[in-house]
Amino acid sequence: MKVVVASDAGFCFGVKRATKAAFEAASAAAGPVYTLGELIHNPQVVAQLEARGVRAARAVEDVGEGTVIVRSHGLPPATLEALERQGATVLDLTCPTVKAVQHRAAKLTQEGYAVVIIGDRDHPEVQAIAGYAGPGAVIVNSAEEARAVPRTEKMGVVMQTTHSAEACRRIVAVLVDKASELRVYNTLCEATAKRQKAALELAGAVDVIVVVGGRNSANTGRLVEICRAGGAVTHHVETAAELQRGWFQGTGVVGVTAGTSTPDWVIEEVVATLAAWSDAAGKG
Ligand code: SF4
Repeated sequence: MKVVVASDAGFCFGVKRATKAAFEAASAAAGPVYTLGELIHNPQVVAQLEARGVRAARAVEDVGEGTVIVRSHGLPPATLEALERQGATVLDLTCPTVKAVQHRAAKLTQEGYAVVIIGDRDHPEVQAIAGYAGPGAVIVNSAEEARAVPRTEKMGVVMQTTHSAEACRRIVAVLVDKASELRVYNTLCEATAKRQKAALELAGAVDVIVVVGGRNSANTGRLVEICRAGGAVTHHVETAAELQRGWFQGTGVVGVTAGTSTPDWVIEEVVATLAAWSDAAGKG
């Protein structure tokens, strides 16, 4: 059995930057260190940070004085202000790509555009962008929801960086009829698009594909959907320990891909396990 890893897989720039800085803060900070929400959607990394004393707080009220890490998704301005009022030292690791969307949304509002954010309203990145856009912003996640958006003179559209390009196209097609002036910013992140393209190509070339990443990671879940749609038998695992030998009976080529929040060492363990099974089968 041959093991092929997708040409683009695993940690993106923003997550790599945030994770590195969080581990550095864990060693260097004098007082307690918190993240507001889990740093990334990967339980293995969150557990490693916890072991180094970095606690994932659920809400501002759970954070005392000390260092608070803002994860790559960012935070609404009101939350940042509340943390500063509480005396916390804020280490802002918002991904620069996400920050650009926040600023874009704020500027659209200042310039009098009704802001529409395409994305999942429960996702922290979308909630942070909405905070910058202000109370008039509308979040839509489907063409059906877009149909309910009231018609206006000037409308500005931004997108959750990890959203599906296809869903954005469908929603924008509806919004075209909703304003006399429509300004659409393509704020989709290239890192996600590249991983999705590589996963689709790989799914067409292998018998079985393993997608590695947190079950709570939306972009990993999207890779699973893409691989299934691409025709490969697809298994989603968080770690190598979840792999089952029986999945690969009679498999010629197995592909491996991973979401943007999956660290290299977790991918390497999956590849090493598959390679070991392949060697054992070759000798058997
Ligand atoms: S997916 Fe893109 S926008 Fe999101 S953290 Fe990674 S690099 Fe930044």
